[in-house]
Amino acid sequence: MDSCIFCKIAKKEIPSEIVLEKDEVIAFKDLSPQAPFHILIIPKLHIKSTQDISDANSSIAGKLILAASEIAKDLKLEGYRLVFNCNEIAGQTVFHLHCHLLGGRRFAWPPG
Ligand code: AMP
Ligand code: ZN
Repeated sequence: MDSCIFCKIAKKEIPSEIVLEKDEVIAFKDLSPQAPFHILIIPKLHIKSTQDISDANSSIAGKLILAASEIAKDLKLEGYRLVFNCNEIAGQTVFHLHCHLLGGRRFAWPPG
């Protein structure tokens, strides 16, 4: 989608610090890190949110999580948190599906 910032990152039309790239997914450092390690893993294809995952494209969910797991292993994270914010009420600000990989510190539960 032309106006989507994450589509532009996926197409390398705007710069980002890419940490992993595969056929269908790309992962890059979050501009405003909320933990010592904060990576965003996105599909190259524009999907708005988890609500827009359907039978036709659901394989992407496993690919995002597999990429997150590989990055966490590379970074030798002891543990980590994966977050998908869905819709504005849950904190979604960029409406291109993304998985936050957060690590390098302890996380509270419940998250608040
Ligand atoms: P969310 O609030 O779940 O939609 O997450 C969007 C995330 O994208 C936020 O953590 C932002 O800091 C991050 N972000 C926005 N623009 C960029 C960018 N150009 N490069 C890297 N991260 C970005
Ligand atoms: Zn997009």
